[in-house]
Amino acid sequence: MAVNATTTNRSRCLKCGFTAPAGGDEWDHVVSPPLGRMTQCPECGSTNVMSGR
Ligand SMILES: [Zn+2]
Repeated sequence: MAVNATTTNRSRCLKCGFTAPAGGDEWDHVVSPPLGRMTQCPECGSTNVMSGR
C-alpha cells in the first residue's frame, strides 16, 4: 500500500475541478430514488463527479 502513489483512486468534480479520494469523507452525498446514492461536490454542490478508479 504505497501512500504516495500518484494512481490513488480519486474522484474529481467536473464543474469546479475539486478532487478528493474516491469515497472519502470530503465528498457529500445525495440520495436520488431512481439513481441511488450519488457523490456530490462539497465545493459547488454539483453531482457531476467523475469517480476515480
Ligand atoms: Zn465542484
